[in-house]
Amino acid sequence: DQGTLTAMLRRSIDGNGPRPAVTFINRTLTFAELGADVARMANALRGLGVREGTTVGIMAPNLPQTVIAYHAALAAGAKVALTNPLYTAPEIEHQWNDAQVEVAFVADFLYASTVAKVRSKVNAKHFVILSIPEYLKFPLNLLAPFKLRKQDPPAIAKVPDGPGIHRFKQLLSGQSTSFPEISSTAEDIAVLQYTGGTTGRSKGAVLSHHNLTSNVQQLVAWINSDQPHDEVILTALPLFHVFGMTVAMNLALSMGAHQVLQPNPRDIPTVVKLIAKHRVSLFPGVPALFANINKLPNIGDFDLSSVRVCVSGSAPLPSDVQTKFERLTGGKILEGFGMTETSPVTHANPFHGTRKIGTIGIPLSDTDAKIVAVEDDAQVMPVGEAGQLLVRGPQVMQGYWQQPEASAEALAGGWMHTGDLAVMDEQGYFKIVGRTKDMISVGGLKVFPDEVDDVLHDHPSILEAATIGLPKPSGNEYVKSFVVLEAGKTMTAEEVITHCAERLAPYKVPSEVEFIPELPRSSVMKILRRELRDRELGKQR
Ligand code: ATP
Ligand code: MG
Repeated sequence: DQGTLTAMLRRSIDGNGPRPAVTFINRTLTFAELGADVARMANALRGLGVREGTTVGIMAPNLPQTVIAYHAALAAGAKVALTNPLYTAPEIEHQWNDAQVEVAFVADFLYASTVAKVRSKVNAKHFVILSIPEYLKFPLNLLAPFKLRKQDPPAIAKVPDGPGIHRFKQLLSGQSTSFPEISSTAEDIAVLQYTGGTTGRSKGAVLSHHNLTSNVQQLVAWINSDQPHDEVILTALPLFHVFGMTVAMNLALSMGAHQVLQPNPRDIPTVVKLIAKHRVSLFPGVPALFANINKLPNIGDFDLSSVRVCVSGSAPLPSDVQTKFERLTGGKILEGFGMTETSPVTHANPFHGTRKIGTIGIPLSDTDAKIVAVEDDAQVMPVGEAGQLLVRGPQVMQGYWQQPEASAEALAGGWMHTGDLAVMDEQGYFKIVGRTKDMISVGGLKVFPDEVDDVLHDHPSILEAATIGLPKPSGNEYVKSFVVLEAGKTMTAEEVITHCAERLAPYKVPSEVEFIPELPRSSVMKILRRELRDRELGKQR
């Protein structure tokens, strides 16, 4: 099993036995204890018929059992497909049947609320139920998207016994703590990782063990910690997403570091309490998370001075958010870039070298990157000019699961076509300027909606904004901005337009402005321009 995630884990278990590996609420598992549970569960999975190549699904928030389930499935030779706990029944059905899930780990309340409804429609035969203690109702409730709905905690229904229902705890008992003998290699599929679904229906990116361990190694080298096992990592990003999976869970496991699990990144008071309590030193996050921490009213009451390095990715990091957070903690946020298809990280700002705020930094080791014309890969763009970002390296996926055409297109010429627009400066630092799919064409001129949003965001009364292009009957497009105002502030559409007109060329200025209470966001808090566009197109029809 050389070069597999299991080999990586086992090395850490051997080297760090008594050190803390995973803490959740008041319970800590050492590396030795974690290893024993992973091995037991892997043996139990073999007993359920899991073999090399079987797909094991996992649908659960960030819990120790989630970490165990993931590594146990791999140690049993399976590949893993992680499912967003917020998925509805039809989304689960689609993903599990696409991934051919045969055994699924499911948190009890998710089984009761959604999975039970699709049991007859999916091929999974075995369900391993993670029971969530009653006292966790509160944090799990906060998984509900965007709103803290304290008044209606979901009922944590008991999952009745029945055919194919197994209890996590019971499966562990009586199993051997020796890892099963399997024939997995580094080239085998480790994870079918579904993309964020920001621009369309999510696709399964096929990530091999080699892809994922390479990215972890690239990150270990990047962070270059003197005392890797003294680091404390906060795993607040969801483990079902590639960012949390690699940059929190697997990075921590490989470094022999102590990771603290937090099931809900929107529960900001708990996030800051955990940072202070456990003296968190490494903190991977997304811009909205750092912004929400900055905004916590009593943030000054917490000692956040242990924070040394934060990695930010998944969306552009506003410089005011970065400055304020760094002042608050004394740590550094390194903005980077990644995508599901690249395990995920390809670029980052260096910790020791020059950081350039507003850029995604430089390519990681063993990673090549270039910027080419949107319509023509052969044309490499000059320094300072925008084009599509292409990347190449050991972390790039094998393709999209069962989508040969999409795979061939995404990986044409051996380069991953990111679909993102970027520019490179003279020192080789990259900056993301938008997505090819979001680019707006106004009378033949290109508008990057991020640029318009930045200008809107600069207005003191505007909290956030999202700009989209909408079709005109002439076949051309026009610019529309959705604006969320700061609490207690008022503005008219004309004032918004005037603010833009003073700062942007006329064709970039929105011709329509709509005020909305909040922007639609994905599970990792990305703004969903697609949803705004669909809403508008529905209106137009
Ligand atoms: P889908 O591909 O299903 O539409 P998605 O691309 O949002 O969803 P992910 O793989 O989670 O799903 O996200 C990768 C994307 O996130 C990148 O292609 C890029 O658009 C964006 N991204 C990542 N890091 C940054 C960053 N630092 N700045 C701006 N955008 C970023
Ligand atoms: Mg994508």
